[in-house]
Formats: sequence, C-alpha cells, structure tokens
Amino acid sequence: MSDPAGMVTFMRYHPWRHLRDHTHVTVETRAELPTGVDGFTDGTRIWLRRGLTQAQRRSVLAHELVHIERGTNHVSDREEAVVDSIAARRLVTFLDLHDALRWSQGRVDDETADWCWVDLRTIEARIESLTDAERAQLEQLREEWAA
Ligand SMILES: [Zn+2]
Repeated sequence: MSDPAGMVTFMRYHPWRHLRDHTHVTVETRAELPTGVDGFTDGTRIWLRRGLTQAQRRSVLAHELVHIERGTNHVSDREEAVVDSIAARRLVTFLDLHDALRWSQGRVDDETADWCWVDLRTIEARIESLTDAERAQLEQLREEWAA
C-alpha cells in the first residue's frame, strides 16, 4: 500500500487529492449504476453514480480507492466492512466526529454526516470503527457536554 498512513493522522484527508497519487486510475463521475450501487471499481477505473452529492462523491471515492489499494472489490460483506472502516477513518477525524456528535447531541443521521462532509454510511462506519481509547474519550467528553 502506498498510503502514507502516518500523514493522514496530521493532515485532513482529501480523496480527490489522493486520487492524483493513483495515476493509473480514471474516474467516471456520472455513471449509470444499478439502484443501490453508488460506486464501483475494476482496479483501474472508478465509476461514481450520477447525481451523488459532493459529500457522497468524496465518501464513495475514498471507499473505492481503498478497494484499489487492497486489490479487492465487493467480494464479501466482511471486506466491505473493512474497506468502509479504513475509508471512514481517513475521512472523519476523531475531532470532527466529536464536534459533529456534540452538535447533534449524539444523534447519528444525515445531518451529522453532512457536518463531517461525508455520507451516512461513512459516519456509521466511523463510529463502528472507534477504538476502545476513542470510545472512552468520547464517553468522557459526552459527560462534559452534559455538565
Ligand atoms: Zn466496496
């Protein structure tokens, strides 16, 4: 994997910028895909469904880039969950998640996702992939909001 994981921690992740490192990959942003499929890749091309919002496009693009790095596609639910988790951790920093949840008072919905400039699936995957330390920190912060 060429992903500079260390850098992602310090810099905000931009999937469209990251795409430039994948010079062999082309993106079709107005693809006609089956209902329920927002994106797809064959390893060298990425198709994004026509009509996605900007937040959806960056979420789906980040997801497909992880597939390309891992050399996988929608092979199994388990792989999908792993890919969602990696993409979500890149797109949504802990602080962004914290601020969004504080603003939404813990609610997780489209507005919370909008706050983080991602789709709902990504925000759910980010919460799913919280580490124990992050979870504990979030609990502690929640108590502070309530105080
Ligand atoms: Zn996938």
